[in-house]
Amino acid sequence: ETNTEYRPTKVVVDLNAIRENVKNLKDYLPRDTAVIAVVKADGYGHGEVETARAAFQVGASMVSVATPDEALRLREGGITGDILVMGPSPAAFARIASKLGIHVTATGAEWLRQATLVVDETGQSLKVHVKIDTGMGRIGVRSAEAIREIVEVFNTTDVIELIGAFTHFACADEDDPITTKRQFDTFTKLVESFPVRPSIVHAANSAATFLYPDYALDAVRFGISLYGIAPSAHVESRLPFKLHRALRLETEIAYVKHLEKGNKISYGGTYETAEDEWIGTLPIGYADGLKRGLRGQEVLIAGERMPIVGTICMDQCMVKLPRPMTVGEKVIVLGRQGDEEVTMEEWADRIGTIPYEIAVTLSKRVPRVYE
Ligand code: PLP
Repeated sequence: ETNTEYRPTKVVVDLNAIRENVKNLKDYLPRDTAVIAVVKADGYGHGEVETARAAFQVGASMVSVATPDEALRLREGGITGDILVMGPSPAAFARIASKLGIHVTATGAEWLRQATLVVDETGQSLKVHVKIDTGMGRIGVRSAEAIREIVEVFNTTDVIELIGAFTHFACADEDDPITTKRQFDTFTKLVESFPVRPSIVHAANSAATFLYPDYALDAVRFGISLYGIAPSAHVESRLPFKLHRALRLETEIAYVKHLEKGNKISYGGTYETAEDEWIGTLPIGYADGLKRGLRGQEVLIAGERMPIVGTICMDQCMVKLPRPMTVGEKVIVLGRQGDEEVTMEEWADRIGTIPYEIAVTLSKRVPRVYE
């Protein structure tokens, strides 16, 4: 339960934007390529259950998460569609996964053998996708021999069912088609070593979906762009359709004061008024995801940009106002107001990261509301 009554700081998520992105993606993809909506890390900060539901409503055929507990939360939240845990799970998770129809990722024959030991033989079989490492160097098998060993485990028991095989691209968002092609070729070659092709072979993330339509295969795993964000500037300039951003971070001016020239603001006194200034205090700080390194970043008030001045505190920060403004005036910290827009990419550039990290570190303290 979230309470937005006494603190105006909130993340507003436009689920229609997410639905629009999925619809446009489906129009763009070949008919026989399915959409796996990636909703790990609380739906990239947008809310896992709500985004999963929105994606299913407009034709996603599966959602995927990184961890077992993320999958369980989706089931608890009422999501009944197919869920894939893309990351490693303890083999012990196989029991509840098979019971709840959660697809899991096999990272090797030994893991799979252990998983078969815990699945309830009288219940549903465990749905398995085999992870093939073609260049991430993260998890997954790397050889035809390792795949043969996995196939042998499938051949010894009915409690596990081979559904998918997948890989993940390391450089699809960069200007580096050679690495991606090499990964794709390695992947398709290794997939051929299954005696029976798994029914869902998938590789593409958002970047590869846009830049390498030939690599769409049976499904794409569409993550960051589900939320309307391009994976990188390189991809943004080559998008085949327009993305709609789903997230807005907003608050209100909590306090306004007039300071004469020479007054210091916030921890360390690192900002000093250079003239008579109007200063507004906002009830948002680094504990909300407005990272300390973002000092100087602008927010939008009345459609105008104004800078955060002084050190960002844990729960509050100060902005320099161009004129006296009223307590309660709306402030857009991320998002659009009038002709101006502050994006996660702008924040990311300022502090040397990527929009993904901004999205997933907007903290749990900030209530998510849906429109
Ligand atoms: N597939 C896997 C295995 C991932 O780890 C991720 C996220 O990093 C994705 C797909 C989605 O990637 P993106 O958010 O770039 O679309």
